[in-house]
Amino acid sequence: MPVEKIEVLVVGAGQAGVAMSEHLGRAGVPHLVLERARIAEGWRTSRWDSLVANGPAWHDRFPGLKFAGDPDAFVGKEAVADYFVDYASKIAAPIRCGVEVTSVQRPADRPGFRVETSQGPIEARYVVAATGPFQRPVMPPIMPETAGIVQIHSADYRNPAQLPAGAVLVVGAVSSGAQIADELNRAGRRVYLSVGPHGRPPRAYRGRDFVWWLGVLNKWDVEAPPTTDHVTIAVSGAYGGQTVEFRRLAAEGLTLVGRTSSCSNGVLGFAPDLGDNVRGGDMDYLSVLDEADAYVARNGLDLPQEPQARDLPPDPACMINPILSLDLKAAGITSIIWATGFALDFGWLKVAACDDHGQPRHRRGVSAEPGVYFVGLPWLSRRGSAFIWGVWHDAKFVTDHIVKQRSYLAYEPATPPLDTTQTSAGLSAQVRSPRHQPNPSEAIR
Ligand SMILES: Cc1cc2nc3c(=O)[nH]c(=O)nc-3n(C[C@H](O)[C@H](O)[C@H](O)COP(=O)(O)OP(=O)(O)OC[C@H]3O[C@@H](n4cnc5c(N)ncnc54)[C@H](O)[C@@H]3O)c2cc1C
Repeated sequence: MPVEKIEVLVVGAGQAGVAMSEHLGRAGVPHLVLERARIAEGWRTSRWDSLVANGPAWHDRFPGLKFAGDPDAFVGKEAVADYFVDYASKIAAPIRCGVEVTSVQRPADRPGFRVETSQGPIEARYVVAATGPFQRPVMPPIMPETAGIVQIHSADYRNPAQLPAGAVLVVGAVSSGAQIADELNRAGRRVYLSVGPHGRPPRAYRGRDFVWWLGVLNKWDVEAPPTTDHVTIAVSGAYGGQTVEFRRLAAEGLTLVGRTSSCSNGVLGFAPDLGDNVRGGDMDYLSVLDEADAYVARNGLDLPQEPQARDLPPDPACMINPILSLDLKAAGITSIIWATGFALDFGWLKVAACDDHGQPRHRRGVSAEPGVYFVGLPWLSRRGSAFIWGVWHDAKFVTDHIVKQRSYLAYEPATPPLDTTQTSAGLSAQVRSPRHQPNPSEAIR
């Protein structure tokens, strides 16, 4: 049976794969998107039940389609997934679901790539990895498996009822950890929250959501995280959207602890950094207010004053006398949720696109292996790259690059090159080779 051929193969049909399909389609580039599960599967099955988007509906979307309903609302995760299904249908994206890409290799004897899939091989001239920014859950090896204690990653958390009765320790307090801990606390659980360094922009200030402020202050387009002291931000659209305020969570019953650092004989150790971490978050929060005020003044905007936004709640007891160690049994902890992030896994990409540690080698998604591209990675080109509104722009850049490469490859000189050959008589003869006529169908050979 002849092997299926395609010009561009996009791997993954989350938002990154759908964005690639939109731009490739507009540019008239033949392509196919392979998705091992369903469109936007991550939003359906790798998120907790109550998750809503971190940004309001007017912002967390692609330019070509609005969410139905209130543009200032925070859309639920199923509606986000439905949005991408609708988007794919609107642009007639050539997506094949239920097909897993298992390897991509470069054949020695011809250009392009041989792609092995769960439904047979495909040959592609270009491959775009759109397999997500958060691929493999990471749990630091601090706590050995211990009888009577359930340990899960935040990617596997669904709702409070899933956990055995008893207290819960949530490790990690950026967006996922802070929201999960808040939900468990509201459900009446005794909750400990291990807080590391973080940023925490105000949910809204002077009548504008933080996504607006980060937009006008040009922070979504910052091109690279600072090499040192970069921290992830804690934001939440839950309960109508509230600033993540750890002192408020403590006042509502949750116990804050510093970074989880060790475990010995069922006793967890915490770094003495809780105060520093919370105050570091405060500085980030206050710096956004300062920059917002300066922007309002400089641009003469008529936005309401909000001085009370600078009033921070008093330090709770758990900050004044921080807990540095905790006997899990004595504290009644029966579950630990590790909200400790994700790693990338490009084991299927068997070409020189990643370094020795498996990290993608690329610039703005154009990989070190010609013909291989990445979209959707954190900080691919800027802060917004792994988010809904950012990936669309990165996908456009990557598509433009592919279009340029194709035009180079389609080039034929107007004057055919001279071909120098040796005659049988030992004389050198210069012969003009017949001019090769470009044939679009050959582009994928
Ligand atoms: C808890 C959480 C909340 C978030 N909230 C927001 C938010 O509110 N707003 C926002 O803008 N961003 C948010 N994000 C960040 C980001 O938008 C999501 O992670 C989003 O799912 C990334 O989209 P993606 O297409 O890059 O990757 P994914 O959604 O992960 O899509 C990758 C796809 O590739 C498929 N795939 C993987 N490997 C293969 C293979 N070998 N063969 C075939 N298919 C494969 C997967 O099945 C998957 O469908 C959130 C992330 C998390 C974890």
